[in-house]
Amino acid sequence: DQLVNQIAAGEVVERPAAVVKELIENSLDAGARRIDVELERGGLGLIRIRDDGGGIEPSQMALAFERHATSKIASLDDLERVGSLGFRGEALPSILSVSRLRLTSCPPGGGHAWTLGGEGGLAERQPVPAAHPPGTSVEVRDLFFNTPARRKFLKAETTEFRHAQTALDRIALSRFDVGFSLRHNQRRVRDLAPADSAPARRARVAAICGEEFVAQAVEVDESRMGMRLHGWVGLPSFARNQADLQFFYVNGRLVRDRLPGFALRRAFADVMHSAHHPAYVLYLELDPAGVDVNVHPQKTEVRFREGARVHDMLFGAVHQLLRGVRP
Ligand code: ADP
Ligand code: MG
Repeated sequence: DQLVNQIAAGEVVERPAAVVKELIENSLDAGARRIDVELERGGLGLIRIRDDGGGIEPSQMALAFERHATSKIASLDDLERVGSLGFRGEALPSILSVSRLRLTSCPPGGGHAWTLGGEGGLAERQPVPAAHPPGTSVEVRDLFFNTPARRKFLKAETTEFRHAQTALDRIALSRFDVGFSLRHNQRRVRDLAPADSAPARRARVAAICGEEFVAQAVEVDESRMGMRLHGWVGLPSFARNQADLQFFYVNGRLVRDRLPGFALRRAFADVMHSAHHPAYVLYLELDPAGVDVNVHPQKTEVRFREGARVHDMLFGAVHQLLRGVRP
């Protein structure tokens, strides 16, 4: 069973960034409005995530460390309409199998907090009382301490940290209503207050993508063909390394797909005779019936029922936008 968990861990948590993503998603699923992330040594020494969400009852803690013990779906039918980010009950047991893990939580309702730890796949027998404000902290130490082969695959700590930061940034750009902070080796790297106004959202994009990006980007908000596209598109003059500045969200989920890149490059070529690789932060909203969210561990893949229509929508909206700003 420990072996099964370690194998699953290879898929669910192949590096610190994946742990950060899974734990932040758990906090969001718990309704957190504020999520603080602390890393040491690129996440290999420590990953600590604290939230102010609904917490977990002490009686449920041991269960949360068990495989497929998700509290989020009751049947296979539910898989069809999962609203939560997690639903496989794999993250915590996978992380437990390759680290020293501690879960500390104070559920609302006046009770005090409890904590349960474990390492290398073995959980302590039962939670003990602890001190913690309402919400949950998850602490992951010495990731991959018992799987040296996996550890050897990792890059330098600064690279692992950069991946972890990207994981947080991707989520922060999809949840403006939640506050996030990130520290690395005691240094504050991100401090994002909840953004509930257009200027505040713009400020968050600037904090993540750079002031230079938002300063020159054109803002789009277009509804057509039963879909809405909004966000920011960088102009050819924006020459920074843009390979990592492509964010595309479909109904709030990050999607990595060639489709927006194609549509935007065509629009830029057409209007501005430019062949650059555009930077963008774009949100597409459409009828959920029009997309298949793949039940892939990383869930960054979707399939559009009508990809050509989505392409035409993006192309049309950005084409019109660019005609308006053409120098
Ligand atoms: P999943 O998210 O797929 O349900 P996980 O292994 O990620 O599975 O988490 C297991 C369970 O632990 C969750 O279903 C949830 O009940 C509980 N849990 C994990 N993190 C938190 C958190 N931050 N706040 C409250 N409950 C949590
Ligand atoms: Mg989860």
